[in-house]
Formats: sequence, structure tokens, C-alpha cells
Amino acid sequence: MPTNFNMKKYLLVSLTLLFGILSAQAKLNVVATLPDFGSLAREVGGDLVTVSVMAKPTEDPHFVDARPSFVVQLRTADALIEGGAELEIGWLPPLLQNARNPRIEAGKPGRIVASQGIRLMNVPASATRAAGDVHALGNPHFMTDPIIAKAVAQHIAQAFGEIDPANKATYESNYKKFEAAINAKLQEWGTAMLPFKGQSIVASHDPWPYFAHRYGINIDTFLEPKPGIPPSPSHLAEVIAQMKAQKMKAIIVEPFHDRKIAERVASATGAKVVDFAQYPGAFPNTDTYIKLQDLLIARLSAALK
Ligand SMILES: [Zn+2]
Repeated sequence: MPTNFNMKKYLLVSLTLLFGILSAQAKLNVVATLPDFGSLAREVGGDLVTVSVMAKPTEDPHFVDARPSFVVQLRTADALIEGGAELEIGWLPPLLQNARNPRIEAGKPGRIVASQGIRLMNVPASATRAAGDVHALGNPHFMTDPIIAKAVAQHIAQAFGEIDPANKATYESNYKKFEAAINAKLQEWGTAMLPFKGQSIVASHDPWPYFAHRYGINIDTFLEPKPGIPPSPSHLAEVIAQMKAQKMKAIIVEPFHDRKIAERVASATGAKVVDFAQYPGAFPNTDTYIKLQDLLIARLSAALK
């Protein structure tokens, strides 16, 4: 039988342990489809959330390899952040069906669709998925514009506040910090890109209209006429002629694209191949959204000099 003193101490230790467990359980369990949303969730959620990201930063977001662990992650999620606008339509719906998690059903506060409230670029006059068009509702790669990333972060903060009202103020203040960090960086990135306004560059494919718009450059010449379809020699010949005529200096390539094709075109034109990525973590020291943008701007401005 413990003494009164020991009993008090025992109770205190037990209560401390219990609160420890409760507060650990109280963390919001957030799943993000893609690493850019994951980075924003960490900025906004801080240590109030645990974030797991489904796609690898080097994967094509339209064609993510669905692993069995995804269903487990979705089953226990308090919130899911997806791009929407058909960005993940090729792989997410069957996983959600298997997970059967009412907290992240469409329309629930736990289902955060980043494209909601975003004005999409390049919306086709008539939605068609013919000939490999994966942007039937408009271009869903809006996160390449840091100003849109701020709006998405604010959306995430509002949703976290709704799911976890006790910590609403913290999510809001974390968002404000992210907003201030982006605003400061926008000055820096804008200054670095200013000398290249109006220039045209080539990309493997088309996730960059928002990025191009933000910095006043043109990215509308592509090595791949359709995603995942290797370019024909005649298409490449056209691209090379166009690059020479417009004196284009850079070809941006993502990790999931064929770098050799870009290298061939570069050697035929004198342009530089620039390794680019949409997703934080694709290159060393790019684990956050801002670090990745830093690297992209540094690489591109160096190539265009
Ligand atoms: Zn796309």
C-alpha cells in the first residue's frame, strides 16, 4: 500500500502520462496527395499535425503508383488535401473507395480540395480527354505560382480550424507567418527573374503556365506534344527550328521526363537543360515549398543569363 505522498506522486505521474497520450492523439492526422500540399500542411499545422504524403516528389502527379499503405493512411486520416480539378483522378478515387473514411468524404471539412476558389488557367472550350489530354477542366498545376500557394495555405488553415477549433488561432498565426515568408521571397524571386521578362523557354510538358505568368516569361513550347507520348522526330525538328528562331536559352525537365531527349534538343540549339520540379523534396535541400522555389529561380536565372 503506497503512502499518501507516494499515492499523490503516482497519480501525478499517471495523469502526466495520460495527458501525454491524449495530446499525442489529438494531433490532426493529415494526408496530402502531393508533396507541395504536404509542405503547406506542415507550415500551417506545425506540431499540431502529423502529415503523410502519398506521391513521391519525383513522380508524375497524374500517374502516381498507388501503394497499399495509401489506403491505410486514408482510413485513419482526419483530413485529406488534394489538388482536385482532376489532378489525381487517375489514381485517388479507388483508394478513397477502399478507405471508406467518412471524415474525408466529399463535402466534409476534412476533405480539402486545393483548387476550390482558384481560377484555373487554360480551361478548354469543351472538356475532352481525347488524345491523352489530362487537363480537361483546366490546368491543375496552380501551385507553381507562389501567390496561389498562399491562397491554398490559407484554405488549409481555415479547414484545420474547422476540424480542430481549439487550435484555430494557432493555424491562423502559422498561416500569417507563411504568408509573410512568401511575400518577402516574392520580392527576391521577382528581382532575380526581372531581366528575363518576355523570354520564351521550352518545357517537357505543361505544368508551368502559372509559374510563367507569375514571372512574365513564356513556357508554351513543349518537347512532348501530349503527356507520356514520346515526341516524334518531326515534332522535335519543329521545336528546334522554333527555339533557334526565338533564341530560346533553356529547356526545363522534370525528374519523370526523358532527359536524353532534352539533351539532344539542347545540343542542337545551344540551349541549356535545367532540372526543374513541381514538388518539394525532388532535389536535395528542397524539403519545403519555399526552398524548392529558391532552387528553381536560382537554376533558371543562371541558365538564362
Ligand atoms: Zn498536368
